[in-house]
Amino acid sequence: MNCPVCGELKTRVVRTFPIESDEELHLTDTYRTRICRKCRHQFTTIEISQPTKQFTVGKRSNKTDTFSYKKLFTSIQKACEDLSIPYDDQRSIFVNVMKDIIIEVQKKEDKTRIMSQDIGTFVVKHLKSVNRIAWIRYSAYFYKNEEIVLKNLREWIAQESDSVE
Ligand SMILES: [Zn+2]
Repeated sequence: MNCPVCGELKTRVVRTFPIESDEELHLTDTYRTRICRKCRHQFTTIEISQPTKQFTVGKRSNKTDTFSYKKLFTSIQKACEDLSIPYDDQRSIFVNVMKDIIIEVQKKEDKTRIMSQDIGTFVVKHLKSVNRIAWIRYSAYFYKNEEIVLKNLREWIAQESDSVE
């Protein structure tokens, strides 16, 4: 892990804080405060654990991809970018999506395959409960379909006018 200031590779861990993200899935995040041996800059790194079972993703184009936890988490982070959504909330969206994926995969015969549409639907569902801009942003990115984005926007507007009454 390079120092973000001077690029030095040798750092010393001064503190470790384990954060239990989800016991059931055995997902544990660990925060480490490190100090650079060269310039003494202190910074924090986050270590993210992942379930080890490997899934495959079925695409609309009939292609199959290897399921990537990093890709999923990155897409959630992108949807949440600049919206002041705390890291822990983004992480819990990821954990909730993972739970839905695992339940969905259990229904399949080989218990390792998930469709990309299903993943997108789960992300949309959980983003919606946390932040509506992130929800709209992700649904636009994922579905690439004006009708769906408009439908979601109409739903948002309807919710707003309900809450004003
Ligand atoms: Zn340094």
